[in-house]
Amino acid sequence: MYVKSLTLKGFKSFASATTMKLEPGITCIVGPNGSGKSNVVDALAWVMGEQGAKSLRGGKMEDVIFAGTPTRPALGRAEVSLTIDNSDGALPIDYTEVTITRTMFKGGGSDYSINGTSCRLLDIQELLSDSGIGREMHVIVGQGQLDAVLRATPEERRGFIEEAAGVLKHRKRKEKALRK
Ligand code: ATP
Ligand code: MG
Repeated sequence: MYVKSLTLKGFKSFASATTMKLEPGITCIVGPNGSGKSNVVDALAWVMGEQGAKSLRGGKMEDVIFAGTPTRPALGRAEVSLTIDNSDGALPIDYTEVTITRTMFKGGGSDYSINGTSCRLLDIQELLSDSGIGREMHVIVGQGQLDAVLRATPEERRGFIEEAAGVLKHRKRKEKALRK
């Protein structure tokens, strides 16, 4: 399993549709300060379901929508698609290629889809949760995060262990069932 491509459309500084094709192995993104490198990482977290505006380095969720420049008007929606090569079947779904898309409209919520079929955030989380990638998996290590692990409370540490052991998904389902 590896990330095949990432497409940003109206996401942060990426006003025009921009597709990055990736190969298995290591990818480096280089560019001057402010050119959008971190925005690409934000897009990756966002498409996998990130719900915290702060984690996306914004004040509110809508800040991910292209806000306009002196020469280009603001847009009304942001869309990110992530295509994963699943030929090894690491994701529990019957497709060799899986595309997850998240769309957000100004003033509205988010839409999610898997291979073009609309779905819930929970479906995305479940699809990714056993694969070692996903919003709450520690695949995106931000600045200062190692510090946070060292300073974590016992409850937070338990969360890391539960995640590694793959029980987080079941706990989430249980919590959801109890809320009903
Ligand atoms: P550095 O090397 O300093 O870390 P970077 O390449 O990581 O820089 P980013 O933080 O990804 O840069 O990009 C910052 C740029 O994105 C800023 O110019 C900012 O104005 C722009 N930006 C962020 N959100 C939006 C938005 N919603 N609409 C338009 N531009 C945005
Ligand atoms: Mg940066």
